[in-house]
Amino acid sequence: MDYLPLFHNIKDRKCLIVGGGDIALRKLRPLLEAGARVQVVAPDIHPAFGDLAEKGEIKVARKTFHPDDLNGVVLVIAATDNHQVNEQVSRWARERSLPVNVVDNPALCSVIFPAIVDRSPVQIAISTGGSGPVLARLLRGRLETMLPANLGRLARLAERFRPRVKEKIASPTGRRAFWEQIFEGPVAELVYNDRDGDAEKALQQVLESYSTAGSATEEGAATDKLGEVYLVGGGPGDPDLLTFRALRLMQQADIVLYDRLVSKEVLNLARRDAEYLYVGKTAGDHPVSQDNINRKLVEFARAGNRVLRLKGGDPFIFGRGGEEIEHLAEHGIPFQVVPGITAASGCASYAGIPLTHRDHAHSVRFIAGHRRDDKLELPWRELAAPGQTLVFYMGLNGLETICRELTAAGMGPDMPAALIEKGTTLRQRVFVGTLADLPGKVRQGEARAPTLIIVGTVVSLHDKLRWFGADAEGNESDD
Ligand code: SAH
Repeated sequence: MDYLPLFHNIKDRKCLIVGGGDIALRKLRPLLEAGARVQVVAPDIHPAFGDLAEKGEIKVARKTFHPDDLNGVVLVIAATDNHQVNEQVSRWARERSLPVNVVDNPALCSVIFPAIVDRSPVQIAISTGGSGPVLARLLRGRLETMLPANLGRLARLAERFRPRVKEKIASPTGRRAFWEQIFEGPVAELVYNDRDGDAEKALQQVLESYSTAGSATEEGAATDKLGEVYLVGGGPGDPDLLTFRALRLMQQADIVLYDRLVSKEVLNLARRDAEYLYVGKTAGDHPVSQDNINRKLVEFARAGNRVLRLKGGDPFIFGRGGEEIEHLAEHGIPFQVVPGITAASGCASYAGIPLTHRDHAHSVRFIAGHRRDDKLELPWRELAAPGQTLVFYMGLNGLETICRELTAAGMGPDMPAALIEKGTTLRQRVFVGTLADLPGKVRQGEARAPTLIIVGTVVSLHDKLRWFGADAEGNESDD
């Protein structure tokens, strides 16, 4: 091990920064956040130091460094652009066994600054021993995405309850089980959703269900616990389009109920040892009815499971997400909803077709384009009005009808239209044409669901703005 990682309590202790420029300013922030009394010594200082000094947040001495400046100091930072001065500061500090950091010069340092992920009181410090600050920053970025913003508040809640928990649950294994239940269950989720009051009540409730001594009722508590349903939007296919929250909940689910539209790549990111249940439709197969899905969600949650209801795109856009959580609400099952990128956004972006554009469309409409009993009843006149973009979901079988009806309602047959097949995935194909010729092109290219149809002059921008996929015009090169 090259360095010993430690967390340094510098609250109300004096720290010295030698240097008054940009670099010194960058080092100042973490010191102030950790509550230090900071003294800055430099002949010339950045105006920001002056402002802070005026507000009384730091002390500034406009002069050159003198070894006496080290008196009473617990940490020294040399951040001047003069190598000689930096070296001098380092030597004097080491002579007094004071921890010293010289910016960008590991050889002169006895301590180095890590990259910090701060969810105080939870903190993660990353160091590459000075060898790769960029690498440390990249690692930090990854960790930032994994940790909920409110993690610190959860830790503080736990801190407040620790003595009570210790008093109530005598056995250490019992306490461990208790805390695991808190950190991975509804209490944590309540804190992450800014419902601290409810979280505290729920924590209290769980605590009451544990007995002082025995593990017997601890087991009882585990089965008593109420589960939760996570209604999560899995996006249109590319797993990179998941939200941080979606990923976090996917990785803590006990049971996963998923649809046909959820891509394999997205599903692969859910917890490996969860139980998986397919509830979508495939042609010729008997789909699981909506009633049945609703019933299952309640049943699994009541048994204490964290149930992931994973849907393609966004759960609230043609996803029946509303119906499912209505049922949960009626049965008192806690739930949360995580938005996903809907097919319209995903396909439009990955096809280089902006849905609105000041020169083309000031509004956009999302329309369900599937036929019922071979009919498609839509307000065609309204849809044919200029200045808008139309996005048809579930429209592959109805494509010809859509193009014919829009033309009949007054849209020009040369109105640009596109069909995007398996948008955002590596198998994405974009068919571009007009109301008159798109159906023929799509038939010839044998497009398969899922597909999305975009109608409007914005489609003409595709030629200029396409960026994703090697063969954006799959139909052209197909025969
Ligand atoms: N809740 C989903 C939509 C479900 S309806 C969402 O917000 O995206 C199903 C329809 O979505 C499909 O018929 C198709 O029109 C569209 N769709 C979903 N994923 C798609 C994809 N990757 N490419 C093209 N269309 C897609």
